[in-house]
Amino acid sequence: PRFPVVVIGAGPAGLALGNVLRAASIDCLVLETESRAFIEGRPRAGVIEEWAVRGLEERGLAESLLARAERHTACEFRLGGRRHRLPYQELTGRHHYVYPQPLLVTDLVREYADVRGGAIRFEVRDVRLHGLDTAGPAVSYTVEDGERHLVRADFVAGCDGARGVTRTVLPDWARISRHDYGVGWLALLAEAPPSADCVLFGVHPRGFAGHMPRSPDVTRYYLQCPPGDDPENWPQDRVWAELQERLAVDDRPPLTEGRLIEKRVLDLHNHVVEPMSFGRLFLAGDAAHLTAPIAAKGMNLALHDAFLLADALIAYLADGDTAGLDGYSDACLRRVWDYQEFSQWLSDVYHGASSGDPYRAGTTRARLRRLFDSPRAAGAFAEQYLGESSPV
Ligand code: FAD
Repeated sequence: PRFPVVVIGAGPAGLALGNVLRAASIDCLVLETESRAFIEGRPRAGVIEEWAVRGLEERGLAESLLARAERHTACEFRLGGRRHRLPYQELTGRHHYVYPQPLLVTDLVREYADVRGGAIRFEVRDVRLHGLDTAGPAVSYTVEDGERHLVRADFVAGCDGARGVTRTVLPDWARISRHDYGVGWLALLAEAPPSADCVLFGVHPRGFAGHMPRSPDVTRYYLQCPPGDDPENWPQDRVWAELQERLAVDDRPPLTEGRLIEKRVLDLHNHVVEPMSFGRLFLAGDAAHLTAPIAAKGMNLALHDAFLLADALIAYLADGDTAGLDGYSDACLRRVWDYQEFSQWLSDVYHGASSGDPYRAGTTRARLRRLFDSPRAAGAFAEQYLGESSPV
């Protein structure tokens, strides 16, 4: 068999890409190592930027999201027992959407496979890429019963996330820049209603703590911990005691506690692959640039890449126009580096107070004071937190 495009990975990047290609009547095959039930339940992101929702809407992919997502208009820093609210909608006229990633993935799979009739294989193993530097690349994989398949393609889209296979086949000249924050985050999901109407950032000498509403019954929390820490070191009681302490303010009741339904340690690090293409292989999303969840940017970047790549592939496959494909990597990387820089800036704000270094603690305090005292500084922060608003 032959497909114009084989997409490796059914995350937000691969599924958004597949959907847009199908809408343009371009056949593609999506290959995914996990089961459909697994990807529809995998909890991760929740914050989606307004331009990304508009991008999904314009491509007919935001109906459920717009009906069900919450709109957030402010965030709040908590430190020294006090609250500092940052009303980003007032400052910029823009807001965030909160829609859990498993819901978005569920919507995108249903639309791609059940409505637009796109081909998808779940639970494939041992995906290998062949002939990427030729005009006729191919992808081979093993299906559940052990049979090996080979499909030919015009293009391969590497949308297989940070631990996928497509990044490993890049040539020596591809540059991979890495940044390790030297910090761990215990990522938690609690069966507990949010304790505030917005995202909370606790900047505390014991370490950062985050509160991110996900739905009326589920809240994501983060607790800074040593990198490589064992989640077993964090029993329920210890988690809630630390969250209560790091997010405490004088004029609000304690957090509403609940059962923890996810608990894992993330060693915060980023990487960026440049360029994002090699021959007939084009990378999109975390496969090209892992972004620690510090500024809630990863899924947004994955969607940005998917929209650009879809448009570029359609222009080439329908009209032979190569401009989009030629400019794809540069166009993606501009936003990628912008978001990387903001994540690094925000990491200093989150982690300076607990670094043990009085100099970093001092500069963190100065940054925060500026943010709280200067509407211009707050406006500049809001612009970056909400993401570049140009349409895609
Ligand atoms: P993925 O979602 O990782 O999808 C890749 C897919 O490829 C997976 O389904 C995987 O199973 C599959 N795969 C892997 N290897 C292979 C292979 N060899 N062959 C075939 N398939 C393969 N981002 C935000 O924007 N906002 C947030 O609030 C946010 N919060 C986050 C919180 C946490 C705790 C974490 C971990 C991440 C968060 N992110 C957030 C980041 C976001 O989840 C990712 O950036 C996003 O999932 C990237 O989408 P993707 O499609 O590129 O990759």
